[in-house]
Amino acid sequence: MKNSIQLKDLTFKRFISEEKINERILALANQINTDYADKAPVFLPILNGSFMFASDLIKQVSLACQVSFVKVSSYAGTQSTGQLKTLIGHEDSLFNQDVIIVEDIVDTGFTLQLIVNDLKSRGAKSVETVSLLRKQKAREKEVEVKYVGFELDEQFVVGYGLDYDGLGRNLKDIYEQLD
Ligand code: 5GP
Repeated sequence: MKNSIQLKDLTFKRFISEEKINERILALANQINTDYADKAPVFLPILNGSFMFASDLIKQVSLACQVSFVKVSSYAGTQSTGQLKTLIGHEDSLFNQDVIIVEDIVDTGFTLQLIVNDLKSRGAKSVETVSLLRKQKAREKEVEVKYVGFELDEQFVVGYGLDYDGLGRNLKDIYEQLD
């Protein structure tokens, strides 16, 4: 377990450990198990970044549930481009379903807002979001995220599914960029 890592031109230091992540995921899953006790939700992980979080979270869910994947890309390097480049998936009908979007991180909330609007226009019965991480900007904007793992300031993070130019997704811990 390394305390700092180098990915291309950037150095990152360990920020949230695997143990803390697992502990928090268990709490989030328990909350979802309680809130959706009489429902059969559809989990909608947003690829690529949420693949690891979604897998660990959904394993702890004891409800009858479905899983369907959507892919969105709105990031180049460490800066949000503010543009939705791709949105693929939705092969399964989400009409009249209780949908739980699974996000890795909500930064400006732009991506999430687009997905929520899209799902509502497809006639989903309810749409809630679980995100492992949420940044300050999204809190200011009040983009609704019902279940949040950890609150961040503005730092750029990698690991546990999150990448820097394609690297770092395989790391078990979450790392933050050093200035
Ligand atoms: P938003 O639309 O909320 O500004 O951006 C959401 C997406 O941007 C996330 O799903 C993620 O792919 C990417 N993103 C935002 N902040 C970070 C970060 O600190 N690290 C990484 N690796 N990706 C981020």
